[in-house]
Amino acid sequence: MSDSKSSVLKNIPITVSKAPIEPPPGADAELVSLYQAHKKIYPRSVSGLFSRWRWALVFLTQIVFYGLPWLEWGQRQAVLFDLGARRFYIFGLVLYPQDFIYLTGILVIAAYSLFLFTAVAGRLWCGYACPQTVYTEIFLWLEKLTEGDRSARMRRDAASWTAEKFGRKAAKQFLWIAVALWTGFTFVGYFTPIHTLAGEFAQWELGSWEIFWTFFYAFATYGNAGFMREQVCKYMCPYARFQSAMFDKDTLIVTYDKDRGEPRGARSKKADLSTLNLGACVDCSLCVQVCPTGIDIRNGLQYECIGCGACADVCDTVMDKVGYARGLVKYTTEHALEQRWTKAQTISHVFRPRVLIYTTILLAVVLAMSISLAIRIPFKVDVVRDRGSLARIAEGGKIENVFRIQVMNATESTQHFHISVEGMPDLTVASEQDTVIESTQSRWIPVRLQLPYEGAEPGSHTIHFKIDAPDLGKGVTEKAVFIVPR
Ligand code: SF4
Ligand code: SF4
Repeated sequence: MSDSKSSVLKNIPITVSKAPIEPPPGADAELVSLYQAHKKIYPRSVSGLFSRWRWALVFLTQIVFYGLPWLEWGQRQAVLFDLGARRFYIFGLVLYPQDFIYLTGILVIAAYSLFLFTAVAGRLWCGYACPQTVYTEIFLWLEKLTEGDRSARMRRDAASWTAEKFGRKAAKQFLWIAVALWTGFTFVGYFTPIHTLAGEFAQWELGSWEIFWTFFYAFATYGNAGFMREQVCKYMCPYARFQSAMFDKDTLIVTYDKDRGEPRGARSKKADLSTLNLGACVDCSLCVQVCPTGIDIRNGLQYECIGCGACADVCDTVMDKVGYARGLVKYTTEHALEQRWTKAQTISHVFRPRVLIYTTILLAVVLAMSISLAIRIPFKVDVVRDRGSLARIAEGGKIENVFRIQVMNATESTQHFHISVEGMPDLTVASEQDTVIESTQSRWIPVRLQLPYEGAEPGSHTIHFKIDAPDLGKGVTEKAVFIVPR
């Protein structure tokens, strides 16, 4: 702020009133909270096509998550992210911090998959595979197992405490905590060998960070899936905020067919729809009761909708019961609804340029990463000049340069390496040319290069080290500089 401005501000008299702020005359003086009171949601269980898909994904993702750390690959865990040793083991692959590019590739693939799925069918990830959805589904199933379905749970929560209520709630908590702890234990099992971890758990000899992460992850699972549930999706998840930017009028979303459903209203099952002044919606509110985020899909697309399809499933069962055509609530696009497209027309419009571009980029990245992994050289070389002496005269009057070469054996077997040099006539390796390095180990090797006196003009000469691994049939060439002093 300029001096003139600050001096003007200094001269303005500021008075602070302690009197309560009065509303303007005629205004409503009601105090309005900016925060909505939380209303507990009791989602009703549902069965149908989308529910089966969700459960299939729950099984698939959890079999992979809980099962993978127990898989063995040779003498070690098949998938292990050993942060201490800075090595990631993924089946036959051992990745080092230098392989960071592959992590970038995985992130790019994940991002484009999300773009693609969202452009095709909205929040597919949220509705079917997101851990928040998956664990909420599991916790809801345990809740139903111990406390019954929606109406029984609502009745019990409203009633006073009895031994039966206490027993059921205790059983639910026990199961929730067991699942949460097992989830936390499994998570840590990806970073520390799970067999060792299990032994440490049995004898309660865990390290402090293992205790912290097991309980932290368990607590997060328990809190998010048991209590926070839809609030995580509504208020905490950033993806919910920007996913609508990836939608367009050809994106498949769960939609209520207003033209067909309205005016909604109850009617007798035997009533003839054509003689009633009503649409197909019987206003049973089941679509609201099954919704895990507690919204009414009949109010149109809302950011709270995670696209799980539960309302579509339940509405189909209602349509079946009253004898109307299914699909009052269904996956469809805005364009399809407006123009009353058939299923085939709708699907043909889903594969539009945007989707094809995402698919092409995704396939290109997957292909590039697969090729890169297939031709990856399983050892790494780093050449460093000895800082102590740039060049010196060695025994026999030869010019000598000293280097240090780091060779990292990224394979899981002992490897033999051979070091040679090229780039100057008569340049030879005067130190040991062959070395053996244990599996997943690295070593600094001092290398002395010698050139006959007056073998080259004074100055810097580009040379190339060749490090070959004969058993692997692969070699690496590294550039360096040989200095001939004046
Ligand atoms: S489930 Fe179907 S029929 Fe029932 S209220 Fe919802 S949209 Fe209407
Ligand atoms: S509105 Fe339907 S699709 Fe959206 S979250 Fe609720 S039940 Fe799932």
